[in-house]
Amino acid sequence: MSRAALATIHLGALRRNLARVRERVGAAKVMAVVKADGYGHGLERVARALSNADAFGVASLGDGLRLRAAGIGKRIVVLSGPDEAADLSEFRRLQLDAVIHHESQLAWLESDRDPRNLRVWLKMDTGMHRLGFAPDDARAVHARLRALPNVDSDIALMTHFAASDEFDNDLTARQIAAFDAATRDLQGARSLANSAGVLGWPQAKNDWVRVGGLLYGLSVIEGKSGTDLGFEPAMTLSTKLIAVNRVARGERVGYAATFECPQDMTTGVAAIGYGDGYPRSAPSGTPVLVDGKRAALAGRVSMDLVTIDLRNAPGAKVGDRVVLWGRDLPVEEIAARAGTISYDLTCGMTKRVLFVEDEG
Ligand SMILES: *Cc1c(COP(=O)(O)O)cnc(C)c1O
Repeated sequence: MSRAALATIHLGALRRNLARVRERVGAAKVMAVVKADGYGHGLERVARALSNADAFGVASLGDGLRLRAAGIGKRIVVLSGPDEAADLSEFRRLQLDAVIHHESQLAWLESDRDPRNLRVWLKMDTGMHRLGFAPDDARAVHARLRALPNVDSDIALMTHFAASDEFDNDLTARQIAAFDAATRDLQGARSLANSAGVLGWPQAKNDWVRVGGLLYGLSVIEGKSGTDLGFEPAMTLSTKLIAVNRVARGERVGYAATFECPQDMTTGVAAIGYGDGYPRSAPSGTPVLVDGKRAALAGRVSMDLVTIDLRNAPGAKVGDRVVLWGRDLPVEEIAARAGTISYDLTCGMTKRVLFVEDEG
């Protein structure tokens, strides 16, 4: 018998979230970002559900290979491009778009005599200081790419925002201005906005948006869940109650005895822990749903188990469904308690969690 920990992926929610993004971005094309195994929801599964996207964005060549092997024929953009010269023939064979962000990649391209066409995206660093060419170099790099006979002359231009989730942070406005100035006379489609850019920076829609989080119903906006923003969570993480106990006032629950029972009370034990990807940093008081009723963690998260204060769920019994996050319990709330962001939690499911799909 497999363990009870279950990640249910709501395919309908993925599709509706894509439609909601389209409503917001008008004519802009949507690159569905499916890196990190579709933010933990499953790469192939998400790509099939989002077959309406205009392209997929992945972090690595290996993910592009997986999508092609799954029969996905759509445009795929590898967001950090080739990691070494030998990757280029794979990019060409699999017809993957390469983001070119560094002089070393440019040098590999310039000595590559492979006649097969390669589509590239030229990435500018407008202030995040992670990947990209300096804006001052944009024209020269663009010209060098245009001079290559085996690089498609239709070169897309992109940059990435560092703080677009802070709607009053003028770094984003400065990044947009730097990008516009650097690319003013260059031909090619433009792409700036990620999810938070779509929500907060309508002037950054341009030709392509690159959206991850919103498709999964996830938010990185402080204090707001995906649901608050009008999107639906695409993952519900659940398990079962495997023990219900009476514990006397003054007794302590779990490792390091961090939770002291303030009264005689009922506690529950659910079959999930940090070995499944539930965050060990989630403290006592972190909400869970037991048979639909809101209860709270009591004591430390262990590897295979969590302990729950059942005072708000008096009828709880062994076998009841326990929801850790999902439709009625925003993952953002758990992430805030655990000191991280929603993406980190959905990306963190381990191999022993069973994934199932529903159409809803
Ligand atoms: C991850 C990523 C995105 C998508 O970001 P979200 O905040 O999830 O929408 C877009 N562009 C690049 C370059 C990325 O790495």
